[in-house]
Amino acid sequence: MVEKKIIIAIDGFSSTGKSTIAKHLAAELNYLYVDTGAMYRAITYYAMQQKFVGPDFFDTDALINELNNISLEFVYNSELKFSEMCLNGVNVEREIRTIEVSKLVSKVSAISEVRKKLVEQQQTMGTKRGLVMDGRDIGTVVFPEAELKLFMTASPEKRATRRYKELLDRGHKVNYDEVLENVQQRDLIDSTREDSPLIKAKDAVEFDNSDMGLKEQFERVYNLALLTISKL
Ligand code: C5P
Repeated sequence: MVEKKIIIAIDGFSSTGKSTIAKHLAAELNYLYVDTGAMYRAITYYAMQQKFVGPDFFDTDALINELNNISLEFVYNSELKFSEMCLNGVNVEREIRTIEVSKLVSKVSAISEVRKKLVEQQQTMGTKRGLVMDGRDIGTVVFPEAELKLFMTASPEKRATRRYKELLDRGHKVNYDEVLENVQQRDLIDSTREDSPLIKAKDAVEFDNSDMGLKEQFERVYNLALLTISKL
């Protein structure tokens, strides 16, 4: 019998650990993992390099006019066992994770033309199913028919602490208050924008992981995935 493959959509607020869970889940199920946040971050990084956007300027039209010249691709790194984001053929995996990109990414992501381009690319990645995708609108817009939808939340302080440690571990110079403010600001912009705001899909399973360890979270999510597959 051919094993049935599903689409697992993981949405939620910033720094809720979506990508860690999604990555583990994809590895365990032998599915493709796609971090859609990396795609929005790469476009933002490009716009910063071209001086379309910055801390005190924002040229939406200039960015929209350039969208056809931006090519995004995930390239598998067999050493790290992880797909890295390439922007016009250049690996930008490190550059897109800085606090400077985080401060501008939600404004860039609110532009409908940007979303249209990325949503189309994301939907193409799901044609063969067998996919775990994380983001903000995966269960509501990209794959409303996904067989399993998860919605992750945690308190802003827990999330900022996680993100702060992650940035320090990667060698970025940041302070905690700056990270907390960024997490709260992104949540606000992401959940109040007009196009595809961050909301829980009606049929998503909600996970508040403020006080849940990674192992417990993973076991719950993995069991849910197996249950969903077994019901097909
Ligand atoms: O997941 P991550 O925190 O890296 O996402 C960065 C930003 O990209 C989010 O704060 C949000 O503004 C945007 N995003 C989005 N839709 C997605 C994924 C990310 O708008 N599907």
